[in-house]
Amino acid sequence: MSATPAFNPPHRILMGPGPSGAHPQVLRAMGAPLIGHLDPDFLKIMDQVRAMCRQVMRTENAHTLVTPGTGTSGMEAAVMNLVEPGNRVVVGINGYFSDRIAQMAERAGGEVTRVPFAWGSPVDPDAMERAIRGAGGPVKLVAAVHAETSTGVETPIAPLAKLAHDHGALMLADCVTSLGGIPVEGDAWGADAIYSGTQKCLSAPPGVAPLTIGPAAWDAIRARETPCNTWYLDLNLLETYWDERRSYHHTAPISMIYAVHQALALVLEEGLEARWARHERNGRALQAGLEAMGLVLHADEGYRLPVLTTVRIPEGVSDAEVRGALLNRHNIEIGGGLGDLRGKAWRIGLMGESSTPGNVLLALSSLGKILREQGYRADLRAALDTAAARLDQP
Ligand SMILES: *Cc1c(COP(=O)(O)O)cnc(C)c1O
Repeated sequence: MSATPAFNPPHRILMGPGPSGAHPQVLRAMGAPLIGHLDPDFLKIMDQVRAMCRQVMRTENAHTLVTPGTGTSGMEAAVMNLVEPGNRVVVGINGYFSDRIAQMAERAGGEVTRVPFAWGSPVDPDAMERAIRGAGGPVKLVAAVHAETSTGVETPIAPLAKLAHDHGALMLADCVTSLGGIPVEGDAWGADAIYSGTQKCLSAPPGVAPLTIGPAAWDAIRARETPCNTWYLDLNLLETYWDERRSYHHTAPISMIYAVHQALALVLEEGLEARWARHERNGRALQAGLEAMGLVLHADEGYRLPVLTTVRIPEGVSDAEVRGALLNRHNIEIGGGLGDLRGKAWRIGLMGESSTPGNVLLALSSLGKILREQGYRADLRAALDTAAARLDQP
């Protein structure tokens, strides 16, 4: 008889661009007994998930749910439902994920205008306005990524939403990395659609995507002339399961719904403001420490995300060796550069459960030590002193 393969995933400290470390209570919730996807007790749990998603996304939108699948499923649901063949779409492209939105909008048959920005800068409303005016006719949808995980940059959404509305368009915001980490103010921004994911600052495993659709966007989805070209993520169909009709559409990923329920409850128990302040403090301490060590942060100052820091790889240092040593010797995962930043920058996440003062100091000391082995004169002492001092501030 041959032995079955050993199953022994290591304990890692997840400080990359996602997934973040899941909260132990979230993992425990996933071990709760399965019940049917139409069991009245499960439907109650779904209703609570809806209500908590609204609270965490700061919206009153009736059409709020979680799509089955990772953050990308939320993106695909939003884009495929909101874009019909021939619709004009203007996307601010300042990183890998904004480009993915544009690719999806093209697959939906949209006439897409990509407005390029440096990978490390936010989406600029003036350039977006010029693109909207130059699109050749009425624009249906304006899209941008609130927290670009590929570059570590925050783009303020409210000015873009105002711009979109001034031109009769809808505003779509990707909040995959921002939700639960930095302020997301769905209704106050005027965003018409927002999607997120569970594996970044919500600290649940990857698996479902919170999504909210405002009244104007919902009207546009209802008024489509052609059915949306995804059946699985067709919001008209999905809504028949999430609302009082309770029709079978797919078998909900029960354990993931448990997980997101528990994760949202933990966010609300901590309090959104307290949680944002925690992410802010830890992120700024890490950034101050990296600079004190002698490293250069990549993202434009004033737009740096506290939840995801991009730092340039110094000359003469091996990207792969440093990340390998962090993982194999220190059990720490950080991310390499994506797209334009491949081999040029590291991405260090401090999201959800992973955003702790201990992880800030651990990342600085471990990275500093490995950089020294690589011949880079990292000032470890200044890094730790500076970060420790910043951690004592609010
Ligand atoms: C991670 C991420 C996604 C995609 O989420 P997956 O869970 O990997 O599918 C989309 N947008 C942004 C900004 C992200 O950070």
